[in-house]
Amino acid sequence: MRLFSNSSQLRNALAYMVIASLALMFLNIYSASNTRELMFQAKYASVQDKIQVVASSFETADTLSTETVDQVISVLGDINVSRLLITDAEGKVLYDSSVNQNAVGKFALLEAVVQALGGNDVFHCTYHAGALQSYAAVPIMSRANPIGCVYVMDFDAEQGEIIENLERNILRGSWILLGGMVLCSAVFSVVSSKRMRKILLSMRLVREGEYSHKIQMRGDDEYTTLATEFNKLTDRLQESEATQRQFVSDASHELKTPLASIKLLSDSILQNDMDADTMREFVSDIGNESDRLTRMTQKLLTLSKADAETVCDHEVVDLSEIVRRVFRMLVPLADKTEVRLTANLDRGCFVLSVEDDAYQIIFNLVENGIKYNHSGGSVHVTVSHTPEEVELLVEDTGMGIPQTSIEHIFERFYRVDKARSRQAGGSGLGLSIVHELVERNFGSIAVSSEEGKGTRFTVRLPFFALEEDENDA
Ligand code: ADP
Repeated sequence: MRLFSNSSQLRNALAYMVIASLALMFLNIYSASNTRELMFQAKYASVQDKIQVVASSFETADTLSTETVDQVISVLGDINVSRLLITDAEGKVLYDSSVNQNAVGKFALLEAVVQALGGNDVFHCTYHAGALQSYAAVPIMSRANPIGCVYVMDFDAEQGEIIENLERNILRGSWILLGGMVLCSAVFSVVSSKRMRKILLSMRLVREGEYSHKIQMRGDDEYTTLATEFNKLTDRLQESEATQRQFVSDASHELKTPLASIKLLSDSILQNDMDADTMREFVSDIGNESDRLTRMTQKLLTLSKADAETVCDHEVVDLSEIVRRVFRMLVPLADKTEVRLTANLDRGCFVLSVEDDAYQIIFNLVENGIKYNHSGGSVHVTVSHTPEEVELLVEDTGMGIPQTSIEHIFERFYRVDKARSRQAGGSGLGLSIVHELVERNFGSIAVSSEEGKGTRFTVRLPFFALEEDENDA
């Protein structure tokens, strides 16, 4: 029974069966009543014909007597009904075709006779006990007055049998149909429940951490689609868990390196009897390493914030203005490494973004352009816009990125040249932050590079057109 408990399929099947049963019941009742109605009409026509023949045979008579009635009936012969009664104007039976219960001389105390003697035609037909039972009565008129009546009773077992057979066959067909439906519903319900339970079981397994579990489902129905979508979902879960694990392991590794250096340097200071200059140098190295740790944790925080947040505090940001701010911040570094910063900034390059995001994107790209450059080189930034988007180009004349590395540079902790990156104070997180932030602001980023010649980053963000008066203000 557990198989069916709480099963929506069973509920559906029951609902269908109830609807089908009601439809079949209606069909049975409708066809039965229609068949009976047709039979009654046929019977009415046939009885009416016979009774009128008898009644019209007395048209010329002024009064009725047993003799005149017997005379007419002997001329008419057998009219093929179960019983024929002819009464006078008082309802006294003058003729009775029944031999066993002959009522001649008695008063026919029948409602139909009373009505017929009142000048009315009467007909009644019922289907009972497998037979069609009908009676009819008509007045015998003479000069517009009833002088008697003809009463006919008919018991038709043959017609009754036709009705009985027809109704029995329709009912039997309905039962067979209903039985077939119950069987089909039960089979479908069991099969569907089985497939549903398979999916539920897989969901439970995945919930308990078995992300590699896959549902094997044959067929081409909704369950198969559900299973395919579920398998895709677990693939994504597996992927994201692997990325997460990789990220945690990379982050711990990256954080371990400066910590190990700090430990080594401080142990050396404690153990060795060193002169003041060497000690100062060691302490300064410890300072550099802790700066690196601070920068890295700062970047990790930015990255996790970019992962978690969706942009909600939109503001209108002028990218050209942000480039100027970034240049002001990076001029000391550029001077120190003898790299020239130049720019070509169009007016009105507005985007709907978060100012900090825009600043971080431009800062990281320009800083990389300086860091991975050589003395005498340059970084050139161009900001322009079309009616749809704002384009930011950051081009440098630096060392370039090897083609094989280009597809990896947006990965977290990826560095082409670890030593150079470390020396330049890099963490391998700058470009992945840029990538996250650009995507978060509905933009795109592309890179092209030639080793030894330089690199160009192209960022595109949706353009935000300010109203003229707003712009002027
Ligand atoms: P990092 O903190 O090491 O600079 P990024 O994520 O910013 O990390 O960059 C990843 C790697 O891509 C860098 O280590 C560097 O090797 C390479 N790279 C990034 N920008 C440039 C550039 N403008 N020119 C040459 N190489 C670059």
